[in-house]
Amino acid sequence: MRMICARCGRNEAFSSLKLAEFVKRGGPAPPPLPPELCLKCIADDPAYRRMLDAWKDQLMAWAKEQFAPQVRAVREWLARPLEAIDRFVESLR
Ligand SMILES: [Zn+2]
Repeated sequence: MRMICARCGRNEAFSSLKLAEFVKRGGPAPPPLPPELCLKCIADDPAYRRMLDAWKDQLMAWAKEQFAPQVRAVREWLARPLEAIDRFVESLR
């Protein structure tokens, strides 16, 4: 079920369920991000942004070993984290 962001009321809220799928494949555990916010609002919040950046580094190292095709997606994350994370998680399904 789609949930709308509690802060901006516009974007779809971040789904930690998607990330749970990704962790099942052996990926690094994501930080405890608030499920009621969208990724844009999470990235706009300095505290959450720091968690995302730390996790991004783990994700990068893991993806390099595991999934060559996904490395490109992770590089996109470095440049454009908001769009890239959704596509990256989708690509693991
Ligand atoms: Zn939002």
